[in-house]
Amino acid sequence: MLFDPRPKERREEIFDREKELESILNGMNEYPISLIIGIRRVGKSSLLKVALNEYSGIGIYMDTRRLYSAGSGSISSAMLVDEITRILLGKGRVGFLRGIKVEEINLLGLHLKPRESTWVDVLDRLEQFGRKTGKKVVIAFDEAQYLRFFGSRGGKDFLAGVAYAYDSLPNISFVFTGSEVGLLHDFVGIDDYSSPLYGRISEEIEIRAFPRELSEEFLRRGFAEVGVKVPEDEIRRAVDELDGIPGWLVEFGFNYWKKGSFEKAIETTMNRAKAMIKEELFELEKRSPRYALILKAISIGLSRWSQIKDYVEAKGGPITNARLNSLLVNLEKMGWIKKENGRYHIIDPVVEKVIKE
Ligand code: ADP
Ligand code: MG
Repeated sequence: MLFDPRPKERREEIFDREKELESILNGMNEYPISLIIGIRRVGKSSLLKVALNEYSGIGIYMDTRRLYSAGSGSISSAMLVDEITRILLGKGRVGFLRGIKVEEINLLGLHLKPRESTWVDVLDRLEQFGRKTGKKVVIAFDEAQYLRFFGSRGGKDFLAGVAYAYDSLPNISFVFTGSEVGLLHDFVGIDDYSSPLYGRISEEIEIRAFPRELSEEFLRRGFAEVGVKVPEDEIRRAVDELDGIPGWLVEFGFNYWKKGSFEKAIETTMNRAKAMIKEELFELEKRSPRYALILKAISIGLSRWSQIKDYVEAKGGPITNARLNSLLVNLEKMGWIKKENGRYHIIDPVVEKVIKE
């Protein structure tokens, strides 16, 4: 069902995106490394999961943000090893365990402690496993920019493993997705000579919001599926409000279906958006309280650099130009804002509305 608010996992559950899916599958088959980039709620996780389900080899889905939170702010080699082992056992791929040093297996709870297995050990193991089964292995890290919290060197040890696999393990490939596109690029560091992955080749697939026509078609198709009649002008107004970001369209469609009115559906969607964005802002503010002030300034139309500076100083005290610049660059890298013709704006119009209030 299109209006199911969870990430989709099968092709028939998603709207459009044939081209993107082909590119992702092609990346999995042809490139050692693929990047899937795009703003929050545009459909990256869904497309990744659909592609992994259709991939002819063995697909491993890793939710990097969840690993990061579970490790309360860091990701260790042991966590990756554990998670990969758990996923393969869950798929019934017990053969993977052969030859791995295991301390304890409790198959009921799938609880096991791979002893002294490092990230590189597991990659070697996966390579052998792939060779034996005649299947290639794709390891996909969703929201991979969080891997910069792997180990103690900004994720370099993780990347060194990836570089090693790239050079020596032909049966393994990687997919990284990221909403914080600039941070993901910085982390992977294909263009950065200090990165272990410097100069490696990767495929990049950008997932964009739907254009107007497709956004309206998305809603029509979704409503037809659940058998709800919705007037054309409401479809149009919904896209005016929400733009073409599938996550918001799904939220709206679901709420309309449940509540039966345009106004209530928009209101509920905005409230849900508020709650989600509040959580994201909370995370941002932990890094600097000024992020929220900057976003607020931009949302109310103070789009020039000097206007933002005045606003931030009025509300939060003096700030140096260098500091303000670095905060603005970070917000761009995290996919919140964009600079065009000397003016900043918030990329997602729903986020803009919510912050403006
Ligand atoms: P992202 O990972 O980019 O943040 P998700 O894959 O979580 O985005 O998608 C956000 C929401 O939008 C989910 O509820 C998902 O079901 C829905 N969604 C995204 N793309 C599509 C699509 N092409 N068709 C149907 N639903 C979609
Ligand atoms: Mg996602």
